[in-house]
This record gives sequence, C-alpha cells and structure tokens, in this order.
Amino acid sequence: MVEFKEVKIPEGDLIQYKDGKLIIGDRPIIGRLRGDGIGLDISPVMENVVNAAIEKSYGGARAIAWCPLYAGLEGLQHYGSEFPEETVDAIRHLKIAIKGPFTTPIGEETHVCLNCAHQQDHGGTCDNCGHDDSVCPRFRSINVRFRQHLDLFACVRPIRYFEGVPAPNKYADKVDFIIFRENTEDVYAGYDFERGSETALAIIELIKERTGRQIRPDSGIGIKPISTFGTERLVRKALQWAVDHDLPSVTLVHKGNIMKFTEGSFAKWGYELAEREFGDKTISEKRLWNEYDGKMPEGKILVKDRIADSIFQQIQTRPDEYSVLALPNLNGDYMSDAAIALVGGLGLGPGANMSDEIGLFEATHGTAPKYTGMDKVNPGSLILSAVMMLDYMGWSEAAELIIKGMEQSIRDAEVTYDLARLMNREGREGVNELSCSGFGQAIIDRM
Ligand code: NAD
Repeated sequence: MVEFKEVKIPEGDLIQYKDGKLIIGDRPIIGRLRGDGIGLDISPVMENVVNAAIEKSYGGARAIAWCPLYAGLEGLQHYGSEFPEETVDAIRHLKIAIKGPFTTPIGEETHVCLNCAHQQDHGGTCDNCGHDDSVCPRFRSINVRFRQHLDLFACVRPIRYFEGVPAPNKYADKVDFIIFRENTEDVYAGYDFERGSETALAIIELIKERTGRQIRPDSGIGIKPISTFGTERLVRKALQWAVDHDLPSVTLVHKGNIMKFTEGSFAKWGYELAEREFGDKTISEKRLWNEYDGKMPEGKILVKDRIADSIFQQIQTRPDEYSVLALPNLNGDYMSDAAIALVGGLGLGPGANMSDEIGLFEATHGTAPKYTGMDKVNPGSLILSAVMMLDYMGWSEAAELIIKGMEQSIRDAEVTYDLARLMNREGREGVNELSCSGFGQAIIDRM
C-alpha cells in the first residue's frame, strides 16, 4: 500500500493496468483536482452531474470514489508548493484523474497570486485581492509539468457540435471528430537556443560543416525532433480509439511536403504502424484506390494523410470527412483551438492528456479569475471532459445520459451567460440565463 501524507485515499477499487488494458471496478477511485479560479466553481458542478448520471444509469451498483488531490492554490495551502510531488505520485497511483484549470504566470513579474492570478514583484499580501496566503514565486506551467512528469504523450480533444449553439461555421452541425496531438516532441520539446548563445552558434557551425549551408549567425535556433517511438505511440492511440469507437477513418496530418524527415516521417511511420499492428482492421487510402477502386471494404478503417494547411481548410468546408485526426505537436496545438472555434468556442471544449496507463481529463479553458466564486461560468468543458472519462472507463451509459441532458438544456436555451449572450445576439427567443450550478441542475433534470 502506497503511503501518502495529505492525500486520503477513499474506500473503493484501485484502477489496475494489466496487459495493455485498464481494469475498473464498480467503485473506482478517481483523482479530482479542483484547479484555481473558476475551477472552484465548475468542479463541484461536474461532480454532481457525474454522480447523478451514474446513479441514474446503474442505480447504486456503480459509483465513483472521488479522491481530492491538490495543486495550484490548494497545493500551496496543503504542501507549500504549487506543484506537489505527492500529487503527481497520487495520479500515477490512481491512473485516472480530472482537473480544473491552473494559473500560469505569463508576464515578467517575480510573483503570482493563485487566488486571483494577479502578478506582482513581491511576496506576502496580494496587491489585487488582499489575500496573504496565496502569493508565490513565479513558476513554470503546472499543466506542462503534469504532462512531462507523467509522460502524458497524447493530448486528446473531441470536437463536436451541440444543436442550438450559435457557431460561425455553416457546416458546424457536421463537425464530429477527435484530435490526437503528440505532446512531447516537435519544436515544443524545449530545445530552443537564444541568438548568440554557445549552443546556437555551435549548431550553426555544425550545420555549415556538415551541409555547407550557412544559417545567419544572428539566428535563434530551435530543434524539431520527431521520433519513430513518439509517432508510433501517438498514432497507435488514435487507431485504437477509432477501433474502440467504431469510427470510419484516421487522418495523419503533416507538413511532409516541406519537412520530409520530421513531418513526412510522421505520416510514413503512421502508415507503417497501421499496416503492421492494425492491418486486419485498416486500409490505406492508396490501397483503397489501387485495389478496391475507391469503394470502402466493409468493417475497415480508412487511414489517410493530409497536408496541414489543407486540413485547416477542409475541417471548415468538409468536416464530415474526418473522424480521428493524429498530428505532431505544433500543428496539433493550432488545430485543437481552430477546430473548437468551428463549433462555437472553448466553453464546451473537453480534453484529456494521456499515456497508455494514465488519463488526466481537464477543462480546456483557463481560470477566468474575474468570475471566480460567482457561480457564473459555463461548466460545460469540464463536464464534457468527465463524459470522455466515463467513456474511457467503459461507463458509456452514464456518458450518454450527460450528453442527452446537455443537448436538451442547450436546445431549451437553458444555459450559462456565455451561451445566453450568443443566443440573444442571434435573436433566439426564450433564452434563460442560468448560473454555473443552475446549468448543472438543468442537465441533471433532463437526463
Ligand atoms: P481564460 O480561458 O481563463 O479566459 C478567456 C476568456 O474566456 C475570458 O473572457 C473568460 O471569462 C472566458 N471563459 C473562460 N472559461 C470560461 C467558462 N468556463 N465559461 C464562460 N467563460 C469562460 O484564459 P486567460 O484569461 O488567458 O487565462 C487566465 C489564467 O488561466 C491564466 O493564468 C492562464 O495561464 C490560465 N490558463 C490555464 C489553462 C489550463 O489550466 N488548462 C488554460 C488556459 C489558461
């Protein structure tokens, strides 16, 4: 039994990982990190909605044993650290957790207040909110550190439309795909060297020596590693998702026309993996045309590739042709935000960061500090992340109930201020603006 100091593991079933599969009992223990700012508002609403859906689906035969874990402001309060090691160990131990957003310092100031996100040049009392136990020295992003410490290599973002949400895209109702973004490599891997630094100059020299080509000496240098290992584990996850959810295609997105040995290899290795490990379940687009005259054989998943710039157009013009997208890190980042805008914005965008063993589900928006504690914001992103989590656990009946409740609430225009504002702007009648918890209740009432 692993011993923790602050974490109290509740009675329940520890989730196990055996032979590549999660084993989940009827009382799984799941980590819950409330997050900073509006995390405190949305987290309890998510928990209520999830508990209600499970109760309605399984009538007491199943329940989640929630295990409070602490980071951000709560980390500071419990451990004196915004990123406690024990929390990382606990997530590793529990295997599934769900979290709200965390404050990340963005300016030059030396300190940040985790209560209101204000940044200042001294510790002690916050100049903005007056709290005297929430200011700490600036730190690196908590979200990024979770990903790195737990090697959460896949950032997974389902993108779908909810009827009634004002969306800018004419074909928004045809949008229903899921993005798998590689999380650890590419130009985001952190090999970024300042102009004039010893490393930047040495790399410039090496390139000249090996290729005869001259990079301007006053250049900053970034390195873009894309490995077979990193690509394969990401594409494997995307393919497995398509298999598990009976989806028609997986699209490898890349910029291999320009970057042959990084982006191009991503697509090549992806195809090879599909053939090698999923050969009986998939068919490549090339084979589809060469051998089947373009007619999809029954029960197969189509594996295709698209150049990154063209896919940004196609998700707008022909979104229904895509169901699973797998991308390297940088383009995956852009794609995740661009795609959610198609269907009306971040308020309803769920997400998760995953390894093979661990799933950390999360709201995709930030801490919106000006709304903290007002019971006002939209809890949809975190609730839909919980839907993803239930699906991942195989509790799809509860997941579907929540979706049903949310779809009906939005159809009835019983929504939080952000959606109400958009609906009113479109001239929709009978819009009822609800609080954060009110929206949660409206979902429960319609399950
Ligand atoms: P933000 O997402 O907090 O806010 C952007 C806009 O969206 C604001 O107008 C906000 O009021 C609105 N908004 C956000 N969530 C909403 C919700 N659930 N319902 C209705 N409206 C909502 O982004 P920001 O202001 O750039 O960042 C604030 C803090 O959050 C920063 O410290 C930032 O680093 C952090 N952040 C954290 C995460 C994360 O933990 N995953 C993501 C983004 C930003």
